[in-house]
Amino acid sequence: MAQVTMDKLVSLCKRRGFIFQSSEIYGGLNGAYDYGPLGVELKNNIRDFWWKEMTQLHDDIVGLDASILMHSRVWEASGHVSNFTDPMVDCKVCKARFRADQIDLNAPCPNCGNKGTFTEPRNFNLMFATHIGPDADSASTIYLRPETAQGIYVNFKNVVQSSRVKVPFGIAQVGKSFRNEITTKNFIFRSCEFEQMEMQFFCKPGTDEQWFPYWREQRMAFYGKMGIRLDCLRWHQHGPDELAFYAKDAYDIQYLFPMGWQELEGVHSRTDYDLTQHQKFSGKDMTYLDPETNERYIPYVVETSAGLTRNVLMALSDAYDEEPTPEGDTRTVLHFHPLIAPIMVAVLPLVKKDGIGEYAEKLEHELREDFTTFFDQSGAIGRRYRRMDEIGTPYCVTVDYDTLKDNTVTLRMRDSMQQIRIPVDQIVSEIHKASKTYKRS
Ligand code: ATP
Repeated sequence: MAQVTMDKLVSLCKRRGFIFQSSEIYGGLNGAYDYGPLGVELKNNIRDFWWKEMTQLHDDIVGLDASILMHSRVWEASGHVSNFTDPMVDCKVCKARFRADQIDLNAPCPNCGNKGTFTEPRNFNLMFATHIGPDADSASTIYLRPETAQGIYVNFKNVVQSSRVKVPFGIAQVGKSFRNEITTKNFIFRSCEFEQMEMQFFCKPGTDEQWFPYWREQRMAFYGKMGIRLDCLRWHQHGPDELAFYAKDAYDIQYLFPMGWQELEGVHSRTDYDLTQHQKFSGKDMTYLDPETNERYIPYVVETSAGLTRNVLMALSDAYDEEPTPEGDTRTVLHFHPLIAPIMVAVLPLVKKDGIGEYAEKLEHELREDFTTFFDQSGAIGRRYRRMDEIGTPYCVTVDYDTLKDNTVTLRMRDSMQQIRIPVDQIVSEIHKASKTYKRS
């Protein structure tokens, strides 16, 4: 395994069209990124995989797509207006800004090396505030949501009353969140605009003791199914200093990113805190009447909260490798699981002429029904394979002179570089079979 560095990932992402800095031609905007042609496919695939896993493959989980803008009282009730802050310090000499909880305040400034130059820490609210309507006064202040979870809590009653769900059940949502982060280094790991995949599971008080370990286990298993190396994932339990005052227990799934172990997803046991807060602030009843026992209670919540864009970074760094080839050079390869690979199949005519190009193009059009495909007929075949390896395309189909005679093609596997000859009408089933049984080699 080659050592993957953030620089290598950033450069590959830009060169091959996964991720660009926002507003690059104007010098770039810190903490914001644009997903290019391959990046958007990768991100959508991870999102769709999560969505399918959480809604379709689990009992009693329904979806929601709440708006980004919400009533500002929501954020008073949730505690974000008063508490969603990070302590910030500035270096008086070089003006660099840091999160006070992420550096040693007695050590020299990590940027300029001067000692004793930090300001006193001051709290800084991470929510982006703006105004709704033409008047920019305090009455019109509104926030870009810093998490998707509150959209789920405030719709709890709507979902119970309009669907056939019964506690225990969950509501899943994927969407943008915004945080005015003080330090946004490490590429898309921590950005000001990002996407979250959250599920809030509502259960009877007391049963959270069973659901909490259940969801921890489910969420770790998910990453195995996504093809992530399990030895690069671990649990971190929140200590008393990290635990929110209302939380009963909280664990993070951490991944070994190029800069070290960092949080990927949180699984939190949140009690009835959020629904109780909304009941208090809205004056609306947030209780649930159990139809079987006639008991009335505010459900407890187990939350699974993953960063989608952070998952993209994990998928890229987990997949990245540089490997020696039989020809004696090195290939860069992304070992994406076929489920999330931006392109599943590339169709490559050995040469353009003699009808081979046309045959391959027609085949690529046919395969579009089943897979995301790509057609490439420029350059030597070896170079075209390398280009596909570098963007993580698991399967290449090559059309050559023999194809015209006997309708067979070469199917090349990205990881093993093994090639097999198969009849053209077996490609779809062969690729389906290979992707279903895929194991990274
Ligand atoms: P931190 O303490 O690192 O700021 P957090 O513990 O506040 O993060 P949560 O509020 O639990 O994070 O958010 C849930 C998930 O959302 C995180 O595990 C992460 O994957 C993602 N996330 C949070 N903030 C960001 C961000 N600024 N950029 C990208 N992803 C983020």
